[in-house]
Amino acid sequence: MAEGGLRYKDKVVIVTGGSKGIGEGAVRAFVKDGGSKVVFCSRGEEAGKKLESEMNTSGPGEALFIPCDVTKEEDIRNVIDKTVEKYGRIDCLINNAGMHPPEQTIDDTSVDEFRSLLNLNLVSYFIASKFALPHLRKTQGNIINMSSLVGIIGQTNACAYVTTKGGITSLTRALAVDEAKYGVRVNTVSPGNIWTPMWDGLSKASGNPEAMVKGGEEAQLLGRMGTIEEAGKVCLFLAAEATFSTGTDMLLSGGAELNYGRKTRLVEKTNIYE
Ligand code: NAD
Repeated sequence: MAEGGLRYKDKVVIVTGGSKGIGEGAVRAFVKDGGSKVVFCSRGEEAGKKLESEMNTSGPGEALFIPCDVTKEEDIRNVIDKTVEKYGRIDCLINNAGMHPPEQTIDDTSVDEFRSLLNLNLVSYFIASKFALPHLRKTQGNIINMSSLVGIIGQTNACAYVTTKGGITSLTRALAVDEAKYGVRVNTVSPGNIWTPMWDGLSKASGNPEAMVKGGEEAQLLGRMGTIEEAGKVCLFLAAEATFSTGTDMLLSGGAELNYGRKTRLVEKTNIYE
């Protein structure tokens, strides 16, 4: 471990969607326990500026907030260029900005909605990786892609979202293979249910927030949702200590994927095809 117990000291880390939720958890972990220089971006300027100033006061690392809409290629390039201008290097890219729309069947999902979620959740990860990699190769750095457990196990009424997350998990593997020759590691984190503003918003939009939150908690063997602090710790571990891990998919769930449950969609066996 580096000087003072700091686990990723003076390393330069980019976090997309870092003003809130899981991204915020990562920013906090890298500044506090890593001692890192964290550049983070999101659309929400107020929350970003507030977190930046809190991090620079608390240290021991530091933070720089850059407003950015990850659906815009030029915005992502700007974040990478500004990072290199200020710090001269990139050690870790955390692709995290993304969104889960409210429940939607394929019949209710327009082709444009499907395409635009691919742009936000998946194409943005490709763009940031593409432009960060020339710098990551110089430092033998790493990429952490925030995917989702549902990219593996599927989810009701979320075909667009699940597709984006499956794509992220596969992008990780493909890049891990190609980038190993440069010493660059690429890993996925797949959260189950982590309590974030996104979860809060989705539950409020559901019409029965209490039932939805209870369902989210009870879907985990551990009987609760994860926290953004726990998500941040996993990211810091992958960047700082997991130096022999590449192409892995770190499940960040309380065991939601385990065991049989009541999963049948058949209401009555006799008329399933009606
Ligand atoms: P959140 O909505 O709480 O926070 C998302 C962050 O991304 C915010 O900072 C927001 O400003 C930013 N963002 C959204 N759209 C953006 C855009 N176009 N450009 C720039 N920034 C943008 O979400 P979260 O729950 O923290 O989720 C973060 C990631 O984790 C997402 O990729 C999500 O799919 C994934 N995930 C979350 C959970 C969960 O239970 N919370 C589960 C599985 C996967």
